[in-house]
Amino acid sequence: MKIICIGRNYAAHISELKNERPEYPLFFMKPDTALIPKDLPFFIPEFSNEIHYEVEFVLRICKVGKHIQKRFAHTYFDQVALGIDFTARDVQEHSRQNGLPWESAKAFDFSAPVGRFFPVSNFHDLNNIDFRLEKNGEIVQKGNTSHMLFGFDEIISHVSKYITFKTGDLIFTGTPAGVGPVAINDVLTGFLFDEKVLTVKVK
Ligand code: MG
Repeated sequence: MKIICIGRNYAAHISELKNERPEYPLFFMKPDTALIPKDLPFFIPEFSNEIHYEVEFVLRICKVGKHIQKRFAHTYFDQVALGIDFTARDVQEHSRQNGLPWESAKAFDFSAPVGRFFPVSNFHDLNNIDFRLEKNGEIVQKGNTSHMLFGFDEIISHVSKYITFKTGDLIFTGTPAGVGPVAINDVLTGFLFDEKVLTVKVK
């Protein structure tokens, strides 16, 4: 399986990193080794001094698809979750300044923990879902899927022009404002509405 991540999909987050607003969904990928095996912590890698959390709403693809039309896109995912797109911000900044690829900043081992999955049928409006991230019990990020610049249908349609989706692939749909650093012994907790659905311990 593969993990597709959308960048710059929330206006307030684009502003906080002083980025340009994209004209179409900006995406990059992480390998399956970015997942964290059950119950293991996130270990801060030695190559970075600035690992940031980015909480994101995640879709799980349920069938093979290529060149998916927007109006059928909603039939290509059947479960949702929260995940964290861990980012080596110092490495990413170096890449950006030098026009280099992002993999070393984004695709490293354990950089994409995902919490419990829920069937889409649990939600009566996927385009109006509150989610948040707490660090050590304090709210650091709050988002609502209605604030995405590009919705799920547009993301799936756009990405599938380039890459075939397969069952089990995940799409991280972008982070709202409030990204920030993690330190050893931090505990990150993600909530969908008021239900705790993701816990990541930082070591
Ligand atoms: Mg992200």
